[in-house]
Amino acid sequence: MVSRVIPVDPFDLVIFGGTGDLARRKILPALYRRYCAGQIPEGARIIGSARTEHDSEDYRAIAAGAIREFSAPRPCDEGRLSDFLKRLEYVTIDARGKNGWTDLAGHLSQDRVRAFYFSVGPSLFGDLAERIHKYGMATAQSRIVVEKPFGHDLETARDLNRTLASHFDEGQIYRIDHYLGKETVQNLMAVRFGNMLFEPLWNSQYVDHIQITVAETVGVGGRGEYYEKSGAMRDMMQNHLMQLLCLIAMEPPAKFDPDAVRDEKLKVIRALDDVLPHHIVRGQYDAAEGHEDAHPSYREAVGNPRSRTESYIALKTHISNWRWAGTPFYLRTGKRLKARSSVINVLFKETPHSIFGEEAGRHANFLSIRLQPNEGITLQVTIKEPGPGGMRLVDVPLDMTFSEALGPEGGDPPDAYERLIMDVIRGNQTLFMRGDEVEAAWAWTDPIIAGWEARGEVPKPYDSGSAGPGDGEMLMHRDDREWRGITP
Ligand code: NAD
Repeated sequence: MVSRVIPVDPFDLVIFGGTGDLARRKILPALYRRYCAGQIPEGARIIGSARTEHDSEDYRAIAAGAIREFSAPRPCDEGRLSDFLKRLEYVTIDARGKNGWTDLAGHLSQDRVRAFYFSVGPSLFGDLAERIHKYGMATAQSRIVVEKPFGHDLETARDLNRTLASHFDEGQIYRIDHYLGKETVQNLMAVRFGNMLFEPLWNSQYVDHIQITVAETVGVGGRGEYYEKSGAMRDMMQNHLMQLLCLIAMEPPAKFDPDAVRDEKLKVIRALDDVLPHHIVRGQYDAAEGHEDAHPSYREAVGNPRSRTESYIALKTHISNWRWAGTPFYLRTGKRLKARSSVINVLFKETPHSIFGEEAGRHANFLSIRLQPNEGITLQVTIKEPGPGGMRLVDVPLDMTFSEALGPEGGDPPDAYERLIMDVIRGNQTLFMRGDEVEAAWAWTDPIIAGWEARGEVPKPYDSGSAGPGDGEMLMHRDDREWRGITP
């Protein structure tokens, strides 16, 4: 299957923080791959910028190194890489200073889309937005792209929204949640709203419960200082898991249009119940010792022996509306778990009555949406176990692993950043978070965090390489349910 590439007009893209980790690991390789796909037109300019002194030649060398290193699993074609690098330039700028801005303005064309990617810490967003205006670079065709974390709580998110709104319209602000750029997440909408099969069953009458798991095998790594102030709730739950929850639970939007989709997502967040203290489990990973993958405990990694920050969180919540009243949603995420796996499981209710007798057992379907790795969707259905003799039933998967169903294109979907950056250039905000969505998510998260802080709760320790603390399993067992396993 050959993917269709929608051409775009020549554009200018400025990457502030163009030498940083995100730019090197994600943004530059994504641009290179879109170039290889024929989507970066002749004349497009990509301008890296940071406060370190470099010239454009240095920057091309930095970008080439990053693209070679991070283009895996697709190998980098040296000929194409050298053509791509011709589109790159560099301007040295300190976001808080005066130098370089006029030079940058001189690199941009008046009459084309210009995107400013803020790949720097959020404390610099205001400085950048202000200077883009001051130096006459804000045009009707300008867009800014901002990364997580979008605030630390409701108050800081509001401040950030106000700061950006004083320089740009909401229609020019692209808040990235890279989970929304994942092919399977978009497929979730295609499956729900492109088929007649699922939507009639997509409610509390037929769905027993929904599980969302985002499990990582990595620890906090070099991000300890940031993570210690954030924890799994702020770093993952408030944004990524919340976005997945919205897409799985929202009403069908009238159109696949940015505000129609985002209006429906916002309604879900606003309908979320407060989470009761005994419906939350927080954990912190222990050290792993004595084998080649040995690593320090969370507390050692962040250098705080008394840390109360969670590296794991599991919770149960409800959505108070007609569709979902009575269906629990279980969400969990954590670091140093047994496998890297992001999956949404929709577990349907058992059949109300078995015509095959007690020995056939009771069966329930489930739909499993795997975001990573091995993207795909599986529907578990019940059939007759083959062979003579009684009527025994067996559950088998109807598997749509994209690589098998769609050929190499399906098994090698574009990275989320490829999709999202091109959406910025095209001016499509559907897969970006709107300011009110982010604020609503914080409004739900803040009291939960305030609750455990007021109670002085300490996260439960858990073994690295496990499924998290035992209490996380208990959260389900108490309801006579269980998590589906964390498998790669
Ligand atoms: P980084 O520290 O690796 O890079 C920061 C970049 O900003 C560097 O290029 C640095 O030179 C530049 N910079 C710093 N201060 C500056 C100033 N005063 N003026 C001009 N440039 C300045 O950080 P990162 O990991 O690339 O993260 C960038 C942003 O993206 C952060 O907001 C981070 O939270 C977010 N983010 C990063 C990742 C990731 O995987 N790295 C993932 C999600 C979100």
